Amino acid sequence: MNRHTARKRMVDRQIRRRGVRDEAVLEAMSVVPRERFVPEGLAEFAYDDTPLPIEEGQTISQPYIVAVMVEALSLEPGDRVLEVGAGSGYAAAVMGQIAGQVYAIERYRSLAQSARDRMTALGYDNVEVVAGDGTLGWAEKAPFDAIAVAAGGPDVPQPLLEQLAIGGRLVIPVGDEARAQELVRVTRLEEHEYEQVSLGRVQFVPLIGSAGWALDGAPIVPRRASEALRVSRSDRSLLTSLITDGCEPYEALEQADLDPLLDRIGSARVVMVGEATHGTSEFYRMRARITRELIQRKGFNIVAIEGDWPDVASIDARVRPHARRPPDVVPFSRFPTWMWRNEETRHFVDWLVGHNEGQRTPARQVSVYGLDLYSLSTSIGAVLDFLDRVDPEAGEVARVRYGCFSPWESDPAVYGRAVSSGRLEACEDEVLAVLADLLQKRVTYEIDDGASVFDAERNASVVREAERYYRVMYRGSRESWNLRDTHMFEVLVATLAHRGEDARAVVWAHNSHVGNAQATEMGQRGELNIGQLVREAYQDEAFTVGFGTHRGTVAAASNWGDPVQFMTVRPSHRDSYEHVCHGTGRANFLLPLRYPAVPELREELLDPHLERAIGVIYRPESELVSHYFQAALPAQFDEYIWIDETSAVRPLPTREVTGVPETYPSAL
Ligand code: SAM
Repeated sequence: MNRHTARKRMVDRQIRRRGVRDEAVLEAMSVVPRERFVPEGLAEFAYDDTPLPIEEGQTISQPYIVAVMVEALSLEPGDRVLEVGAGSGYAAAVMGQIAGQVYAIERYRSLAQSARDRMTALGYDNVEVVAGDGTLGWAEKAPFDAIAVAAGGPDVPQPLLEQLAIGGRLVIPVGDEARAQELVRVTRLEEHEYEQVSLGRVQFVPLIGSAGWALDGAPIVPRRASEALRVSRSDRSLLTSLITDGCEPYEALEQADLDPLLDRIGSARVVMVGEATHGTSEFYRMRARITRELIQRKGFNIVAIEGDWPDVASIDARVRPHARRPPDVVPFSRFPTWMWRNEETRHFVDWLVGHNEGQRTPARQVSVYGLDLYSLSTSIGAVLDFLDRVDPEAGEVARVRYGCFSPWESDPAVYGRAVSSGRLEACEDEVLAVLADLLQKRVTYEIDDGASVFDAERNASVVREAERYYRVMYRGSRESWNLRDTHMFEVLVATLAHRGEDARAVVWAHNSHVGNAQATEMGQRGELNIGQLVREAYQDEAFTVGFGTHRGTVAAASNWGDPVQFMTVRPSHRDSYEHVCHGTGRANFLLPLRYPAVPELREELLDPHLERAIGVIYRPESELVSHYFQAALPAQFDEYIWIDETSAVRPLPTREVTGVPETYPSAL
């Protein structure tokens, strides 16, 4: 393909199709030879849908971003334009095709020089490039009808606001976090009146200068070219119509036809059902409906939930009273109590009691297990309780070993801090020894008390993992997150093994745990999750369902440990998958992603968008930074369930236990 054809194709596929409509912009980008603005060796990639590295560790912007920015400037033929961050000079040349005169400033002298050389060689005599700090603008040439800033600043530089003509437009990426810049357009309405609108989320190299970031200790670290300049790029109207064609709408949750979903689940052994918040009634109810169908029609016999092992054991003891003695705990009595102690969960548990009662043999009953590890002290209690009953001597030994924790049991986080700072010796060997003894004597215990030995083993494993968790917590969130999700995976595998060959499990956990981490920003940060591990281990025998909503109410807290509140969920961000789903105008639907009815849907949806995650804490005031992340939906889930408007779960009254802060605020 020659360069001319490649350029036309780029304009059609990457720009027009994604919604840029300004003919002047499309025309300009059809004529400016981008291959002349990239380093020689990269010319063959000049029309790829990506930014490319240029000299001095900088980038030439992705063509689509240039188009979006220039379109937002609404350039007219006689306009005087300022560009800050000329880089290769490409965007300045594009603007030069439309506007009267372009003044471009570049921080690096060498880049400014080569951009100037290109303008001369290509005959762009209305584009002037100089070296300097563009955050100060170019007062001698002001006022400008349009200003484009091609690097991300902490704020809109004041000098640029002042140099904008009345009626002028300024486009700049703004944000105090490298990954969370927002492209904004500022219009100067009057001498002292400006209007600002958001154009979406982007990633730019930093704007360094006196009204930008400081060079030393700048909070923004320049990113590699491949990571720079990413924005949700799909053509939203195309996506919306593909979803409209590919989805399976339903009226009411209880009446939704789940047969097609069950067909798609096929013979999977592990079905993971997520939730986009920890406090939305519809997610709990739909998840319960799917689970009931899986139990009744596909023989699923494990429900494994994102709760602590001893707490969830209380549910198990209720639904399988002959198989399990109730643990000595007040279940779900610590923050966040509403997460499992709610009407919706109780309704499901009541149903499960009836279902299990109707089974001919205990082996056919469904068990419920807790995947999480925040129960250090109750799990210690459960292990000692078991050993005191079946092997009092071993119980005494274990009591001494666990005694290592005694001073810290009420606040294991303090233990972790003391160990990681070298002020305290870890209890690692002690907890491992208790577990090893238990495993070694398992056979004899099974003869004595087969029903509880598995429970004791699991609790001893929780103690071991929790001990590690509180230590690594101080090394960073990635390590502790990975340890926790690996633990969840191991518990799941252990419960499947325990229930034997025919075991099939439904997992209930947040979207962030069950959706494949490799398909989200988490993967880029080196985080994994149970969803990824299950997928890798069970391949086609695993199936993941995610949920999403546009707006409504949610049960959540403002801070860790605060009382539950019923908060309003803000309408979804315009760059999110949620916004696209909302655009269909359908209230509820199932969206098959593994086997979509319209094959193009998967391909189009793979283009990363923002996705919202609300855990037990919701901070609407900083929603974009606190609750949105980048994801590629069809790589994350096999099916997506959309409920446009949702309502908060209904918490049950609790006897909340305070002063035992075992759960650490990972908030998901
Ligand atoms: N529009 C450019 C193009 O089409 O190649 C892309 C520019 S690149 C993403 C951003 C540029 O901004 C870099 O070359 C960087 O050196 C420059 N830059 C950063 N801070 C600056 C400042 N204060 N003044 C001028 N240029 C700056």
